[in-house]
Amino acid sequence: MRKKVVAGNWKCNTTLQEGVELAKAVNSVVKEKGANDVVVVLGTPFTHLSKVVENVDTKRIGVSSQNCAAEAKGAFTGEVSAAMVKSTGAEYVILGHSERREYYGETSEILNKKLALTLENSLTPIYCCGEPLEIREAGNQKEYVINQLKETVFKLNADDFGKIIVAYEPIWAIGTGKTATTEQAQEMHKDIRDAIAAQFGQEVANNTSILYGGSCNPKNANELFANPDVDGGLIGGASLKAEDFIQIINAY
Ligand code: PEP
Repeated sequence: MRKKVVAGNWKCNTTLQEGVELAKAVNSVVKEKGANDVVVVLGTPFTHLSKVVENVDTKRIGVSSQNCAAEAKGAFTGEVSAAMVKSTGAEYVILGHSERREYYGETSEILNKKLALTLENSLTPIYCCGEPLEIREAGNQKEYVINQLKETVFKLNADDFGKIIVAYEPIWAIGTGKTATTEQAQEMHKDIRDAIAAQFGQEVANNTSILYGGSCNPKNANELFANPDVDGGLIGGASLKAEDFIQIINAY
């Protein structure tokens, strides 16, 4: 049975102190409410990982980086390897976010190296895919997104694919306040699940969590999460306010 997941992506926001306070605020409520069936993940900057791990109940809240290096180790100044992420106690790595693809030139080739290192280090990739506005306007979103998957995660074996979480994030909805309609989200999530079934079989598809990302907030989370193929959300802006993020967690 696939898990429901609500993951925050803090991006390049919060100082260490602010991040720890935010994590503590989420932790206290998640603990109190005992929202047992929703996996909660905090995607923090690298600098915050170990402190956030120390300040949350890691049985209830997973901690994630937002990236990792494409190399295992060595002379790559400024990079942070998957092994380093693992050593902080984090359990997840967000990979392939559209901002990384667009601003840092992350290609499928680079992402395949990162996926391999993430899995080798027993970290769970939260793998992002999603189309830009012009592709959506041309009606080619399905081919575009499935192709992103074919070039990367569909090259994994079924066993490794079974360890990943997929996040569908239409780029035109990220940080824009423009959310995909519930029909648009469900349609694409179903297309992704069908493509997973064709590649790896129905059982793997049924067990894969597919998250929606793109201006998800306390007002629309309920409707989005009610879709049969939407298994939670990857939340940017609204994950920076503990209250909003908690309301989204409780949207189930
Ligand atoms: C994201 O960046 O992953 C995201 C979904 O951002 P926002 O919620 O701010 O649109």
